[in-house]
Amino acid sequence: MRPPYLLLDVDGVFIPFPDAEGAGPETHTRHDVVPTGRTADNPVTIWLNPAHGPLLMHVIRTGLVIPVWCTSWRQDATTLLGPLLGIPPLPHVDLPRPQITTSHPNGYLWKRDHVDAWLGDAPAVWIDDDFTDLDHEWARERTARGQETALVQPDPQVGLLAEHLVEVLAWVARADALCVACEAEAA
Ligand SMILES: [Mg+2]
Repeated sequence: MRPPYLLLDVDGVFIPFPDAEGAGPETHTRHDVVPTGRTADNPVTIWLNPAHGPLLMHVIRTGLVIPVWCTSWRQDATTLLGPLLGIPPLPHVDLPRPQITTSHPNGYLWKRDHVDAWLGDAPAVWIDDDFTDLDHEWARERTARGQETALVQPDPQVGLLAEHLVEVLAWVARADALCVACEAEAA
């Protein structure tokens, strides 16, 4: 199998949803950032876990996946968040800015149609906190077509844990072994 894309959401993954007091988990550090379209007197407060950069770099250095931001932070994930996490510049899926009031306007994640088009027939493992049953069905259908797909879904209040990245690497190894088996069968 060619290396799958590792699609990375930000909100609910690297930035957990704040608690009732507006704070993040104790593992996370507060930062004020100024996303594109905002001014310095109107920053956004975010909470990042300094352990996430090294964890993700461990996965990236294996060369087994191609990391790509897939977030409504778009380019700001690379320019603002990457440096705070210690992650080098990564490409991003250029998502549109739809006028929607829910992240599941059609019962599934709003990003999915764009991701589906962007991926073509490439394999992918996608970390996002916001998948619905229809997204999991989409992943199963892609896989059944030979486009290996896995969804990893952290709890948005907690965000990314080491075990999610272990899950990513375990899936890559498994999908790769399956591909070798089916290619051998086809030969
Ligand atoms: Mg999210």
